[in-house]
Amino acid sequence: MKKLCLVIFLLGMFTYAQTADESQLRKIYDVSLTNAKGYDWLNHLSNQIGGRLSGSIQAQQAVDYTKAQLEKLGLDRVWLQPVMVPKWVRGTPEFAYFESTPGTSTNVPICALGGSVATQPGGLKANIIEVQGIEELKIIGREKIEGKIVFFNRPFDQKLISTFDAYAGCVDQRYMGAAEASKYGAVGIIVRSMSSRLDDLPHTGSMSYGDTPVKNRIPAAAISTKGADLLSTTLKLNSDTKFYFKQNCEQLEDVKSYNVIGEIKGSTHPNEIMVVGGHLDSWDLGDGSHDDGAGCVQSMEVLRLLKETGYKPKRTIRVVLFMNEENGLRGGNEYAKVAKSKGEHHVFALESDAGGFTPRGFSLDCSDANFEKVQSWKALFEPYLIHMFVRGQSGADINPLKNSEMLLAGLRPDLQRYFDHHHAANDTFEHVNKRELQMGAATMASLVYLVDKYGVEPSIKIKG
Ligand SMILES: [Zn+2]
Repeated sequence: MKKLCLVIFLLGMFTYAQTADESQLRKIYDVSLTNAKGYDWLNHLSNQIGGRLSGSIQAQQAVDYTKAQLEKLGLDRVWLQPVMVPKWVRGTPEFAYFESTPGTSTNVPICALGGSVATQPGGLKANIIEVQGIEELKIIGREKIEGKIVFFNRPFDQKLISTFDAYAGCVDQRYMGAAEASKYGAVGIIVRSMSSRLDDLPHTGSMSYGDTPVKNRIPAAAISTKGADLLSTTLKLNSDTKFYFKQNCEQLEDVKSYNVIGEIKGSTHPNEIMVVGGHLDSWDLGDGSHDDGAGCVQSMEVLRLLKETGYKPKRTIRVVLFMNEENGLRGGNEYAKVAKSKGEHHVFALESDAGGFTPRGFSLDCSDANFEKVQSWKALFEPYLIHMFVRGQSGADINPLKNSEMLLAGLRPDLQRYFDHHHAANDTFEHVNKRELQMGAATMASLVYLVDKYGVEPSIKIKG
């Protein structure tokens, strides 16, 4: 009888614990969906400030604005962490056309890739040769490439369900295309935009010259997907087609900028730090609403939602708005460097940098024990249609913090439309849905609550 009583008591405790978690998650989602702040913050970042290229006035305005908003939340501490960032400027809008026969030219939408050099002031005109990837340069050889513009035109693989996989399968053309093509004497490169969709918008993004000497660096631009198809068709009809483009972008001296940080001190384990963040910088063609204004305001929301629902975290919960993810990752690297030098003990980090779309779950980068632990919370997320708990990358900004003990996570929203907007002029506020954005914030806050309450699993130490 005593045993039975104990079983009933323990069962009761277990049920109670489950109910407490269920009701805490319910509260978090309720507040996020009925009393949102994130959407208003995003409205300001996007429509009052706009695109936030590292080193720009807008990036500084975003630092000032988000710091002021965090201060209003009544956190225990809000501060700026200085970091030197690259400053690349686009200059006047780019211009391009191709000429299939002398006198017959067709304008095409292009934009300079971030970090590219300019063309000569009068622009660059040359024959253009299409390739499907970097590997093809070697096969074609210097003879056919020298003096020409190389046109990298490998499209997204539409069969891939993960658009991030499709992106990963193409982005080497954008990132390394110029460095590789210049080795064969190319005078410039044009890259098909990294997008799943056929439209007239060019998508920018970072590129690298690697160890290419300054004098050998060639201008690099992205062409819209429709422009790429048109150019490709034209080249099939007339391989002697010439391409003209003009851009006057420039890499300036590094400037001082900041990561914006706020925290709630833990009540029982203040030295165990949990980070939640996104990146505050963006590209300049749109206003960076999905990439990554959404992730920033969702991360700010996490701390507000915990406070609003009356939850007192055991561990220190820190929001970090990283500067310069797009063209340097200086903010993420600096944050990890400072954390290490101060001997801070980070146990968890969560990043949202995949757009403000309907949340589906998390991508987890951690030990088996921690992966199982997160999996055990699946049922709690089911009412909110959150079901994806998979292994994978977490986020670029939090990756420098990685060690064998930490639990790293990335919010995984629905990913079919992300690359319609990514780094293009249509990454704008009206393409973010308020409910979807706030569902994402609540989903993040729920995971933060559960990890804080139950802690992370210690890594298994093999006794010697
Ligand atoms: Zn991003």
